[in-house]
Amino acid sequence: MSLVSKSPSFYLPSYSLTSDVLGFIRCGLQYRYQGVAKIPSTRPFQLWFGEFIHGVMEEGYRQYEESVRNRAPDLPPWNPVRVYRMARQIEQSLRDRKLFPNNRAVRKLGYLRVVTAINELGPYLFPLISEAEISLSATRSMLPIPKHYQTRQVPSYEVTGRVDVITSVQLNDPAHRGNSLVQYLVGFLNHERAQGRLRNLPNDFEVIIDYKGARRPAISTAGGGATDYWSVYGWQVKTYAHIREKQPGSKRVALGVVIYLNELLPTWDDLAKLQSDIAYQITDITPTPGSDDWEIIHMKKPMKSHADYKKNRDLSWDFRMRRALRLEPVHQQAVAEAVTRFDRYVRQIEISHSKEKLCSDILQAWPQNTSDPDTCTACDYHTFCPRRQRSGNFATSPKLPSI
Ligand code: SF4
Repeated sequence: MSLVSKSPSFYLPSYSLTSDVLGFIRCGLQYRYQGVAKIPSTRPFQLWFGEFIHGVMEEGYRQYEESVRNRAPDLPPWNPVRVYRMARQIEQSLRDRKLFPNNRAVRKLGYLRVVTAINELGPYLFPLISEAEISLSATRSMLPIPKHYQTRQVPSYEVTGRVDVITSVQLNDPAHRGNSLVQYLVGFLNHERAQGRLRNLPNDFEVIIDYKGARRPAISTAGGGATDYWSVYGWQVKTYAHIREKQPGSKRVALGVVIYLNELLPTWDDLAKLQSDIAYQITDITPTPGSDDWEIIHMKKPMKSHADYKKNRDLSWDFRMRRALRLEPVHQQAVAEAVTRFDRYVRQIEISHSKEKLCSDILQAWPQNTSDPDTCTACDYHTFCPRRQRSGNFATSPKLPSI
């Protein structure tokens, strides 16, 4: 009797756009240890920041939505004590996942930013959200992997993410006519339509939102192989749009919105970076020369004891909102380019896995990215990372953000 061999089991690797693909783009080797091996970082302040702000925004929206369901709409601004209470819950849940703010200054900045985000952005944003925290998932074909790296058969992979959604119904609701965020979104959509970039837009469409606990990146890098986060975040939101449109019951996505939450309350270090971006003409949202915003951005950081020390909090709402919101029109050609970029990154991750299997050497198999000194300085693996060793001088302890 001949024995029939069992056919290989179906295997579909899953890649999250944020924790896997963006982690790999930031640095392949760091991703190998933190993302694949799940070794917790000893200095996870960047991750803490992003997850903390995201978590409090979601909780704020949940509380607002519940008040609407109970027919007693309770829109922010809220007493900061209420926001602190929500923030403490989120902080505790992150603590359970071994994510800490590193020091008091980082924690204080996180708390101040969530109060600003809830109380200044929330009143405009929350009434527009029609669905929150939607899990997205789609299957994509894996790009061909060179034969000598084919250590497993992976014809396709799953791509995942989470977004919030606004629909055209909310944008067209007369009740929101005075909402400055609606005016900004509708003005942008009309401009894109007039330019012919958004053709055949149906009456019923969606806008998807992705929060980032980061400052608005420069629109082009200073060269030297630096990671182009401007393009990467643009591809990410368009890839979300692509996956969302494939979900049953969803509508056409016309716009992707990335909200850079740090812009709502920038630190003096953020303003110094903005000043440099303006000088090198590598940012798209700048203040009017001579305006109050311009003066504040070009101020020298005052001493802590000086009366002007909190001037960084005096930037106008209009300027901060425009810096925080990045609007990406979603059209076929741009989406096709974005998803192909992400397919390529996933192929690179697969190839790195294969290289590690073939050569049993993690350091050789995973690419290292030293283009962001802050990432390398905060990295737990810098003591043995070959590329970092070759790249010369980095600070030994990370510069933590503070207010
Ligand atoms: S030190 Fe820099 S290049 Fe090396 S693993 Fe860490 S982040 Fe990557």
